[in-house]
Amino acid sequence: MKEKGLLIALFVLIISTAQCQQPGNLARYTQPGVDVLNYAFSLTLSDSTNQIKGETTIRFTRADDRQTVWFDLIASKVDSTQGMKVRSVSLADGKAAPFNQRNDRVFINLPPAPNQPTEVVIRYDGTPARGLIISRNKFGERTFFGDNWPNNARNYLPVVDHPSDKATCSFSVNAPATYRVIANGKLLNESNLPNGRKLTRWQENTPIPTKVMVIGAAQFAVEEVGSVSGVPVQSWLYPNDSQKGFIDYRPAKEILQYFIDKIGPYSYEKLANVESTTVFGGMENASCIFYNEKVIVGHKDSDVEALLAHEIAHQWFGNSATESDWSQLWLSEGFATYFSGLYLEHAYGKDTLNAVLNQNKGQIFRYSALKPKGTIVDSTTTNLMDLLNPNSYQKGGWVLHMLRNEIGDEAFWKGIRAYYATYRNRNAQSSDFQAVMETASGKKLGQFFQQWLYQPGYPELVWGSSYDATKKSLVIDVRQAQRSGALFVVPLTFSIRGSNGREITRTARLTMTEQTQTFTVPLATKPGSVAIDPDNTVLMHATEMGK
Ligand SMILES: [Zn+2]
Repeated sequence: MKEKGLLIALFVLIISTAQCQQPGNLARYTQPGVDVLNYAFSLTLSDSTNQIKGETTIRFTRADDRQTVWFDLIASKVDSTQGMKVRSVSLADGKAAPFNQRNDRVFINLPPAPNQPTEVVIRYDGTPARGLIISRNKFGERTFFGDNWPNNARNYLPVVDHPSDKATCSFSVNAPATYRVIANGKLLNESNLPNGRKLTRWQENTPIPTKVMVIGAAQFAVEEVGSVSGVPVQSWLYPNDSQKGFIDYRPAKEILQYFIDKIGPYSYEKLANVESTTVFGGMENASCIFYNEKVIVGHKDSDVEALLAHEIAHQWFGNSATESDWSQLWLSEGFATYFSGLYLEHAYGKDTLNAVLNQNKGQIFRYSALKPKGTIVDSTTTNLMDLLNPNSYQKGGWVLHMLRNEIGDEAFWKGIRAYYATYRNRNAQSSDFQAVMETASGKKLGQFFQQWLYQPGYPELVWGSSYDATKKSLVIDVRQAQRSGALFVVPLTFSIRGSNGREITRTARLTMTEQTQTFTVPLATKPGSVAIDPDNTVLMHATEMGK
């Protein structure tokens, strides 16, 4: 997802109230031997109350010896009007199953496991504290929007709420007929019910993580933007915003085409870009991306395109090839950040990508000053919202940019396509990505990933050059001055320029491995000036001595 400038105040508030979870400890989140295959969610929404009624049928496999399973569901508390109360749990044959709610989970006792999937039906009701935001949009109209990231689906849906347990899902939403309801996947049907109500059914046939399983219900105007490789592209806007918003969301078609061409097939039944009233600037819900209602401009705007490209890129990275654990969040956010930049490079040229990279560099430097020990792969952060930081996003994006320069465009894209093909609709870790990129490039990348993913900071180089007229050579001294003390292997290229500032030649790619190194480059005449890393290929802060 993406936070947006305007939303930072709200965002900070959310951070301070988010629940604490240990991202590194998988066993706390998932049950060995339990794998959810499908969720069939039924929800009843109302205009007169924020209470919802739910019925969820969960189909899952379990190890033969497991007779108790649990699903995450935030329970109602004695001193609160919020939370979900489970009314009954039954099995596929209709028989009641013993259950209890504790520690914000529903524990269900099952008969001895037959060697086949188990199905349970959980009926519950309550007022969600978060996860499903029931509020009024900027036009004062009542709206309902799922806002699951990172693990808030459990506030209104009983789920194994972890990105490693992906499943197919369907939503049947019973709501007043004034609402149009969007959800993941394909629209099955809308049918009128008595008393001015309507039932809307959506079905997602591709397994997705719970963080992106959502519904939205509001008054919408819908535009069919067109079809890309057989995938319908739609814009869902609040009617009062539709004139401007339809213009804003239209580039989605070209972005979708670009990613299909470059990465591989799109995994879902449609792509709907949906105006919403939630906390994030954009949230990449699978096949129905939610964008904040504040992001409406009504004319071609590269910031809006960058946001669209970020969220659409997530459909490949995050939703389809999903990080196996929160500590690997860069596989989602770093990828979306860089692929948004790659789309801008494709649409507007190299300078635009460079501007994005430089802006991102600044954010990384500032964040690193605040959190000097922070690393991209982070198993220590206890508050998941804290992982939404420049290490996961901007530095993760820079890692991909450096990788592209390390192995070349051809191997980079070959590797990206292979990574997606291998981990499509599955889960991956950083080591899986590394292995695919090593195969694609024929290069060992252990050192590269080690220093960028697991080591804090970035190279802070102090360098200078002098011309030796007798030896006809340029002598370049470079020192790694980062306070962390940990050294980086840094590829270095220097641009040798005349007195008019124009480039005369470039050094070959030099490799810095030591704290202090001197490079001697043959050069016939004294240069006017020398510049480091002219193509902006390394995340580093370089200071030229005496400049
Ligand atoms: Zn994102």
